Amino acid sequence: MRRCCRVAFTWSVIVGGLWGLVHLAPELNLDAGRELALLILLGMVAEWLAVPFQRGQLSGGFAVILATFVVHGPAAAAWVGGLATLFGQGLVNRGQGMRTVLFNGAQYVLAALGGNYAYLLAGGATSGRTATGNLPALLAFTAAYMFVNHILVYLYTRPNKRYYPLVGWRDAFQWDLLTYVLATPIGLLMALVRDKVGLAGLSLLFLPVLATQFILRLYVELALTNRELAVLYEISRRLGRKHDPGQVVEIVLRETRRVIAYHTGIIYLWSDEERCYRPGAVLSPHARQIRELRFVPAEGFLGEVVQAREPYLIMDTRQDERVGKEPGFPQFLRSAMMVPLVVEEDVLGLFLVGERRPQAFDRKQLHTLTVIGSQATVAITNAVLYRRLENMAITDGLTGLYNHRYFYLRTQAEFQRAARQGDSFAVIFFDLDHFKDLNDQYGHLAGDAILAQLGEVIRNNLREGDVAARYGGEEFAVLLPSTGEHRAVYAAERIREAVRRHAFAWEGRTWPVQVSISAGVAVFPKDGTDLTTLLRAADRALYRAKEMGRDRVVTSGSGAES
Ligand code: GH3
Ligand code: MG
Ligand code: MG
Repeated sequence: MRRCCRVAFTWSVIVGGLWGLVHLAPELNLDAGRELALLILLGMVAEWLAVPFQRGQLSGGFAVILATFVVHGPAAAAWVGGLATLFGQGLVNRGQGMRTVLFNGAQYVLAALGGNYAYLLAGGATSGRTATGNLPALLAFTAAYMFVNHILVYLYTRPNKRYYPLVGWRDAFQWDLLTYVLATPIGLLMALVRDKVGLAGLSLLFLPVLATQFILRLYVELALTNRELAVLYEISRRLGRKHDPGQVVEIVLRETRRVIAYHTGIIYLWSDEERCYRPGAVLSPHARQIRELRFVPAEGFLGEVVQAREPYLIMDTRQDERVGKEPGFPQFLRSAMMVPLVVEEDVLGLFLVGERRPQAFDRKQLHTLTVIGSQATVAITNAVLYRRLENMAITDGLTGLYNHRYFYLRTQAEFQRAARQGDSFAVIFFDLDHFKDLNDQYGHLAGDAILAQLGEVIRNNLREGDVAARYGGEEFAVLLPSTGEHRAVYAAERIREAVRRHAFAWEGRTWPVQVSISAGVAVFPKDGTDLTTLLRAADRALYRAKEMGRDRVVTSGSGAES
């Protein structure tokens, strides 16, 4: 619907411009044909040297329009503006479609008509115009011209607002205002000089406009580069604070939009489990389907890009042979940029952004994406390392369970929660029976293997949310949040029985000796209203389980055997 409205709007402007030209044609003074041709030529030069930026372009061509208006009237101004744009932009096409060129030409025609209307309203003379005789009306012409021009272009580009992340409407307006402030007096002067000195003088006067355009181009490039740098700096600063790889890639995708407009963004990350690249973050209307995509190195188009380890720019997916019949993104993207995320020998992932129109990206944007990609790579590497360190700091190396420190912290948190909410929770201590004998008889390596397998048995017999830790040598502890005595004893029994049933193995052989554990259970608040008392209660229950003959579960309160 919106697209349809926009097309209708574009064509109305084009038809309106055309109608304007046809309507005004009889008023053209064809005796001045050569002079008009020269003016069109000057206007074309201004269009050629125009300063392109996101959201439009800056040109001093208005000086020519104004001079034409003063000397030859509105019809000539509209014709010169329309044709100069059409020829100028048509010849030096900066990747815009023919429709855009037609639109631009037409909107200059309409701007000239609007300008003339304001000129007449302000009491401007219809014949014998001079550059100095009717200044207020000429300024009204200028203001209306600029107004119509801006409104039409604004409506034309508004649906694509996201295409211009670096330049706001206010920038476009300010820069354009600058060109009008410059072009208006020069246009008036051109009309004056033309009367006194002739066409050569008029043409000469146009040179400063071109020179200013050149300076403006440098300024705009500098300003945009500056903004881009500021955004890049901001991205790296934000990335440095994130320690989660998933969050890092999400941020990269989101922040990239501030410099590069794209329809679909995907950051593929290598998955050790799946042995392939899979989307780590997706920003796209087709996110659901994209999340299912996978690829492996050297296979398919994306696999080749990863293997080549070089950034890759696709101007048009339908023209690019390498893309070929690749399933997935080429079906809905016409242009794309890809940057492999490389760390030394490895390719961590692939950063891909795409647009639905062809020729949406250029080399400069690919360079920007590469810079962001390398920042992302550093941040992802750091996040992965940080994760690994964080995990190492809270896990027990032998069993893979949590360590004593983490268990204590979690129990403390659960204690606070339960105390606040009037809830209960349970702690179970386990200890291997006669483990010393086993070590003495078969050696410590065998003992270690049993411990590691025991950790697995415990983990497999717990529910999500329960916390299992290796508390010390052959002692284990389990925290059961929001759990009363009954369920805690049940859980402890389940583990004890699972240990008895488990076929422990070492060096490929089933362990010949029965392995068993004893357990002590304590429940908050029944067996202790502070943490130290509670843990001591569980310990004492375990001690009693040992005294009573091992391979059993004992609760703190009763001391009864279960
Ligand atoms: P009980 O039934 O009374 O618990 O008897 P036990 O032999 O298990 O008790 P004790 O506390 O006397 O001995 C614990 C043994 O656990 C001592 C040590 O050899 C062994 N142990 C502790 N940590 C490790 C470890 O990391 N690896 C191995 N292989 N053995 C360990
Ligand atoms: Mg022990
Ligand atoms: Mg023991």
